[in-house]
Amino acid sequence: MGKALIIGAGGVASVVIHKCCQNPDVFEEICIASRTVEKCEAIKAKLDGGKTRIQTARVDADNTEMVIELINKFKPDIVINVALPYQDLTIMDACLATGVHYLDTANYEPPEIPKFEYKWQWAYRERFEKAGVTALLGSGFDPGVTSVFCAYAQKHYFDEIHYIDIVDANAGDHGYHFATNFNPEINIREITAPGSYWENGEWVETEPLELKKVYDLPEIGPKDIYLLHHEEIESLALNIKGVKRIRFWMTFSEKYLTHLRVLENVGMTSIEPIEFEGKKIIPLQFLKAVLPDPASLGPRTKGKTNIGCIIQGIKDGKPRTYYVYNVCVHEECYAEVGSQAISYTTGVPAMIGAMMILKGIWKKPGVYNVEEFDPDPFMDALNKYGLPWKEDFSPRLLD
Ligand code: NDP
Repeated sequence: MGKALIIGAGGVASVVIHKCCQNPDVFEEICIASRTVEKCEAIKAKLDGGKTRIQTARVDADNTEMVIELINKFKPDIVINVALPYQDLTIMDACLATGVHYLDTANYEPPEIPKFEYKWQWAYRERFEKAGVTALLGSGFDPGVTSVFCAYAQKHYFDEIHYIDIVDANAGDHGYHFATNFNPEINIREITAPGSYWENGEWVETEPLELKKVYDLPEIGPKDIYLLHHEEIESLALNIKGVKRIRFWMTFSEKYLTHLRVLENVGMTSIEPIEFEGKKIIPLQFLKAVLPDPASLGPRTKGKTNIGCIIQGIKDGKPRTYYVYNVCVHEECYAEVGSQAISYTTGVPAMIGAMMILKGIWKKPGVYNVEEFDPDPFMDALNKYGLPWKEDFSPRLLD
């Protein structure tokens, strides 16, 4: 059916590529392109010989011209951007210039400002509409599946949704004192930033990790969860009409937070450049270089993740509560695709989003967040491609 150019060759990209190769009728040919071409070749070596034809290329996606050149050479139908959020705009520019569809899993963030918001990418709406090209933003798990869960709840179970709590829990253990489950730089920037949530039409800001609760999650048990700012709050506030409050919560162990506090206190998480032996370095980027590569955590990580949405609202004039979630087992993900569950839960929805566009089910000129499309085919595909979901109509609430 189509050709996909996959940019990035890290933990998430590896899962996307495995999943595309499991779906060769849709992904007939792929090109894996990244800054370090050896990583692309290593992934190709694992999967070559199947029905999906695989090429590799070196690309610096900070350079729009280089991405355009690669697109003109490979002629993909879609670019799946699983590099870093810093590359979103340059890749979107290349897609516009060549008339190729675009998908990513994280919103643009300028390297020098640790604040992620959609304004930069939403500013491309008119240009994508005029070019007749689809850009699908945030097709990972969170953002991604969590927003599809909300759209599904809205479509099938609620007349009005009032409260959304997104809870992202990882009860996996990789045995290291300290490691992040996806790109350490992006992960630490997210956690050390102020928290925020949406209430009555406004952002309410908190100190980083100021709000904490304990929640008893299905199949995982009670966990400490902390309120974070997260990008899907911004798009859901716009797209779920009448919503009064949206919050995002993530689990962190005491051990993880103790390490993080120490690293923060000594300045290792700073993004301000410092002079070191005659060279400018960014402490957080140096820290990334000494931490375990998230792609290497697969064989070591044991346990489960549980990510879902607890939703409250009104149906037929009566209050209703609904919890929809996915439980993923780290060891099972590793056995299937050689990655831990965090990369898995992001890579599967990225493949599904690309499939929705290639099949024409979610194809519409413009720039869209996932909750703006019909959730049903995506929810079916989650069950089929490894992220089955469960429902509970009387969940315990957070307040
Ligand atoms: P990794 O750090 O493992 O991989 C990133 C890849 O991008 C690397 O192969 C890297 O190349 C490549 N890259 C970086 N800069 C460039 C560039 N200028 N040009 C070309 N390639 C480049 O990250 P992850 O796989 O963990 O994460 C990938 C994305 O997924 C991130 O944007 C992250 O925010 C997002 N994510 C989304 C989630 C969701 O649920 N929505 C959850 C988890 C992650 P090199 O090897 O040379 O450094």
